[in-house]
Amino acid sequence: MAFIGLGRMGLPMARRLAAAGYRVRGHDLSEQARAEVAAIAGAQAVGSAQDAAVGADAVVLMLPSSSAVAAVLLEDGLLEALEAGVALIDMSSSEPLATRGLAQRAAGRGIELVDAPVSGGVRGAVEGTLTIMAGGGVEAVEACRPMLETLGKPVRHVGPVGAGHALKALNNLLSAVHLLASCEALAIGRGFGLDPHVLVETINASTGRSASTERKLPEFILTESYDAGFALALMVKDIGIAVSLGEQLGIEAALGARALELWREAAGALGADADHTEIARWVDARAAAGEAR
Ligand code: NAD
Repeated sequence: MAFIGLGRMGLPMARRLAAAGYRVRGHDLSEQARAEVAAIAGAQAVGSAQDAAVGADAVVLMLPSSSAVAAVLLEDGLLEALEAGVALIDMSSSEPLATRGLAQRAAGRGIELVDAPVSGGVRGAVEGTLTIMAGGGVEAVEACRPMLETLGKPVRHVGPVGAGHALKALNNLLSAVHLLASCEALAIGRGFGLDPHVLVETINASTGRSASTERKLPEFILTESYDAGFALALMVKDIGIAVSLGEQLGIEAALGARALELWREAAGALGADADHTEIARWVDARAAAGEAR
């Protein structure tokens, strides 16, 4: 099988597939990523997406965005190189309407696109515990299920093609709002003199808890490690997908739109390489600037 996009998520996923007996032909623009996949038993690195497709019965894409997915499929000629009937699975967090457009192009070549984005982060990718939300025809999704179950459970079939990408963007809209609100609560609590650990532990036994307070605050923010492995820029992309999907449907997401503005500001201040948990540092800096006024 071909695996394109061997970054923080793709590489551990490719490793799990190779360990389960899939013969992985991996490609990434990054030389370092290609070297890392080449070191995995049962996997090999190839120099182009087209090359990865040679003899493949399945192709997994784990790329940063819909534009990268379109570049690989159309500009790099991957779609052209695939045989009819190949399973084509976009596991990236992509734009649902762009996915539907690509699905039509793929259908024209006798290939059914399945979108199967994931939740669970780098740890979920390493441990094979990702939640997978698949969109596509019943038969196409069921044909992919054994491979997807190597990467995580549950594998939920959530609707036709694009449905997985829509659901994933909405999940991350919620995750981004929770995390930002949790960081604001932490900053206010600290300002009042509350012990941050007491605050987080008590919220986690109360109704304000979320995946942000249960995992991200204790593991990455209170420890100041800020190394969850999910880039802040990718979170901004996901919030943008959800808010813009609402706009295209004529549905206003007032809180989502404000969250998008704030996350974009944080991205500008923290830089392109920031982990998304560094939003806490940005909230703290704003709190400190507010106190100084
Ligand atoms: P990443 O930036 O670490 O990896 C992306 C990889 O794609 C990079 O190695 C890059 O070189 C490669 N790439 C980009 N354009 C390419 C091209 N045209 N051809 C070949 N390779 C190309 O990103 P990631 O954190 O692994 O995320 C991948 C996808 O998964 C994103 O859509 C992200 O939103 C989603 N996601 C990430 C996480 C997480 O915790 N990191 C969790 C869930 C979903």
